[in-house]
Amino acid sequence: MDRLVYMDNSATTPVKKEVLDAMLPYFSEAYGNPSSIYKLGRESKQALEESREIIAKHLNAKPRELFFTGSGTEADNWAVKGVAYGNRSKGNHIITSKIEHHAILHTCEALEKQGFEVTYLDVDKYGMVNVEDLKKAIKDETILISIMFANNEIGTIQPIKEIGKIAKEKNIYFHTDAVQAMGHLKIDVEELNIDLLSMSGHKLYAPKGTGALYIRTGVKIDTFIDGGAQERRRRAGTENIPGIVGMAKAVEIAYSDLEESNKKLIRLRDSLIKKIQDNIGHTVLNGHPTERLPGNVNISFEFIEGESLLLSLDMVNIAGSSGSACTSGSLDPSHVLMAIGLTHEVAHGSLRLSLGDFNTEEEIDYVVEKLIGIVDRLRMMSPLYEKAKEVK
Ligand code: PLP
Repeated sequence: MDRLVYMDNSATTPVKKEVLDAMLPYFSEAYGNPSSIYKLGRESKQALEESREIIAKHLNAKPRELFFTGSGTEADNWAVKGVAYGNRSKGNHIITSKIEHHAILHTCEALEKQGFEVTYLDVDKYGMVNVEDLKKAIKDETILISIMFANNEIGTIQPIKEIGKIAKEKNIYFHTDAVQAMGHLKIDVEELNIDLLSMSGHKLYAPKGTGALYIRTGVKIDTFIDGGAQERRRRAGTENIPGIVGMAKAVEIAYSDLEESNKKLIRLRDSLIKKIQDNIGHTVLNGHPTERLPGNVNISFEFIEGESLLLSLDMVNIAGSSGSACTSGSLDPSHVLMAIGLTHEVAHGSLRLSLGDFNTEEEIDYVVEKLIGIVDRLRMMSPLYEKAKEVK
């Protein structure tokens, strides 16, 4: 294959042609500052508010409850720190899970240094939070529950509706990091009792550096970025109009044929999993067998180093990831794979292939064919594999 086979769509996605087309005028023709009162500014303002309406509609939220940010990470930071600081007089306890993205985990760790108490819930072997554990962890001082909608590494989708119900009954704010879910799963903040929700543009075919935080009306939350009066005085900084317009267009496209595109993704996903497992021994599928993101495949190959696997795949034009994009570059095994109970060795041999709208069955066959050869070659160099074969 002389073109790149891109299977790292959970790390980022290309900007779709229609998204780019929608954005282009806002770079050079309709470049006004939305805060300016003349026509050019008003045009930008109109694009901003239309984008807000589009995204809010797909969450079943009100436009005034959606605030644009510079990334999913910023939205996560704002949700957790903003609620923590804004509700300090009520309590100092936060509940989250051990498999959250670092945008949540490191934020919680920063808050712990400031006197907040954080409970990090365990997950089961599929990466699922247990709602009974959640109920037990709640205290009088609990002000926030933050549980991700779907995991970026293993794709497991959490029981968001049940968690939202518990939070509502206990009068505790519920935040969900929906960066991996937005544009891939149906999300209704009313039905799911979500009070705060983070999203990011570049996971759904919009540009990097775009994000949003949904904040339910009435939620007490501190401002995170001080400055001008943008975003109803709650998030200062001149709005990234082209990026926001692109994100709204991407959301619109994603939800216009959600069922069809998910059907295709699930077919490709399940085919990839089956073909790998049918052709390569000593593999473990990580994540939930059914409650998982339509495009997520995460498999551990025993007796193999994930980094060597990635480099070998790169040499034959295949892009994947060994865990989360943010952790590759470090030799620590992924915190998510550790939390679901894998040993260091097995976790190190994990490969995430995340499928997107542009992948094909032909690519699946190409990847499987290459994987068979690469895994075989790498295992031949592994003394542990030799030993395992002797035992058998
Ligand atoms: N949360 C999750 C679950 C993610 O997967 C990511 C990105 O990988 C983020 C948050 C951060 O989003 P962004 O890259 O827009 O900062």
